[in-house]
Amino acid sequence: MFRDLLDILFPDCCTGCGNALYKNEQAICLHCLNNLPRTNFHTGRNSILLDRLKGRIPVKYAFSFLYFTKGGIVQNLLHNIKYNQSKQTATLLGNLYGHELLEYGYSKCFDVILPVPIHKNKEKKRGYNQSAIFGEALASVLQIPFSNRILIRTKNSDSQTHKNRIERWINTHNTYAAVEPDEIKNKKILLVDDIITTGATIESCAEELYKNNVLEVSVASIAVAR
Ligand SMILES: [Zn+2]
Repeated sequence: MFRDLLDILFPDCCTGCGNALYKNEQAICLHCLNNLPRTNFHTGRNSILLDRLKGRIPVKYAFSFLYFTKGGIVQNLLHNIKYNQSKQTATLLGNLYGHELLEYGYSKCFDVILPVPIHKNKEKKRGYNQSAIFGEALASVLQIPFSNRILIRTKNSDSQTHKNRIERWINTHNTYAAVEPDEIKNKKILLVDDIITTGATIESCAEELYKNNVLEVSVASIAVAR
């Protein structure tokens, strides 16, 4: 009864729209789930992400679950994942996307899933790396090994938000290091991120992975900015 009373007084809210959740809903309400702006890149639809990375770094597959638009559901989801401790949202999105990739046969396409790392100070402060939470859920659905200790972030540089492409490239260049190179040698890597905008972060992580003799790099993110 106490629990029911608490639910009435402080209902859990949808991390997409902010409305109170029904008992059978978790983290994201059914209405938001039904209206997620899916990219469907994995179904063969032209990937703007692949186009964006073309000529910069070799990438086998470039997938994003959702399109990011300012002021939309996805912005709220990402904000809640990052700043409001909603690991549950990242896990739910990873589960949903994992099943979609599974359905299209992608479980055999990767040897290991690595999240784009955040600096250890930031991870300590936030308590988790949001890309790792999403990646772990993907890995568990696809039954692919996951590791968040192979690729690390060495520099704790400024936020990327207000930088242009060149500034971002300078900001992220040589920021990442692969510390267990034997574990990725000749492997097909699926690199996982929360949101991809210019692709500079992906570019420098992939660069570091190729330096350590991986076979190929693919990318999957929660969202991509148009
Ligand atoms: Zn909602």
